[in-house]
Amino acid sequence: MGLDTPKADTAVTIVPEAEIAGLITPQIAFDAVEATFAAMARKSAYNFPVIRESIGHADALYGFKSGFDRDSLALGLKSGGYWPGNEAKGLTNHQSTVILFDADTGRVKALVGGNLLTALRTAAASAVSIKHLARKQARVLGMIGAGHQSAFQMRAAVAQRDFDKVLGWNYHPEMLSRLEQTATELGLPFEAVSLDDLGAQADVIISITSSFDPILMDAQVRPGTHVACMGTDTKGKQEVEAALLTRATVFTDEIAQSVSIGEAQHAIANGTLSADQIVEIGAVINGDHAGRTSEEDITLFDGTGVGLQDLAVARVAVDLAQDSGVALKVDF
Ligand code: NAD
Repeated sequence: MGLDTPKADTAVTIVPEAEIAGLITPQIAFDAVEATFAAMARKSAYNFPVIRESIGHADALYGFKSGFDRDSLALGLKSGGYWPGNEAKGLTNHQSTVILFDADTGRVKALVGGNLLTALRTAAASAVSIKHLARKQARVLGMIGAGHQSAFQMRAAVAQRDFDKVLGWNYHPEMLSRLEQTATELGLPFEAVSLDDLGAQADVIISITSSFDPILMDAQVRPGTHVACMGTDTKGKQEVEAALLTRATVFTDEIAQSVSIGEAQHAIANGTLSADQIVEIGAVINGDHAGRTSEEDITLFDGTGVGLQDLAVARVAVDLAQDSGVALKVDF
């Protein structure tokens, strides 16, 4: 290097997991995810193939989701996985870390705790679908699932419509207290109901479970409902009867994931739905698809979870951490 060569920035920014709660609000996550879905539909952002492996140690599943957004220049990956024995060690079973790279040089730029970000970006995805697809007059929110993600899902959803009641059903009824507590915090009445009652009353239904069998049946869903299927992110998982996907207009974050690891995999496999009938939610955001066309349409969002969502929220977390002085810098 000559004397005139500029000194390169060699710092890596670290945003610890514990700082994320003070940096990223549900609204910030919503804006980042909505912009990402729009960029994906414009083809200026794309996800790379997902890697997910059972590593043959500690019963762990481990993998990467990655991609590049040419508009925001977010480049990187989320390394994540599931270690079932972690709770006994005082750690959460799901472990995620986002690594961002400089799109101009390939240099590593940032290391960001990804656990809370995963919940926020997943909740933001269903909220984006509610904003663009649910009836404006939607008043009753139905929740299927009462695990860790469910509270985040409810909080993000209620910001999108003037809901006056939350209904809940869960395979493990003892977990329903999480939904009740979250609804109470949000100032909304909560009722634990049967799936028949949930389908008969809800205007918007969010499913967020780890089920491998259909829970919600086609006949239980009334015209005009918006259903956000958020739990199915792996081959074999299923939350709703495949027939619902042929009655509904199906939207997704990414069609390649929807047909292979998303809720649509089952209707695709039995030949009642084809990939070209599935619409990227970004096309609705960009105004290239009408979305819901009548008050009677059933709209279904197959939220499979893409790497670009993780990169989008992590990129914003880095900027906000730098602005507020909580980012750590290490020469690398
Ligand atoms: P969790 O373990 O905290 O809760 C699991 C939920 O699934 C509970 O409601 C539980 O009662 C229910 N459940 C478990 N076994 C069931 C069965 N056999 N039938 C019906 N319901 C059953 O999990 P979580 O963190 O809340 O995540 C829920 C799901 O969301 C998981 O499948 C996870 O992989 C998925 N997820 C998806 C995305 C995405 O982007 N789409 C992101 C994060 C998590």
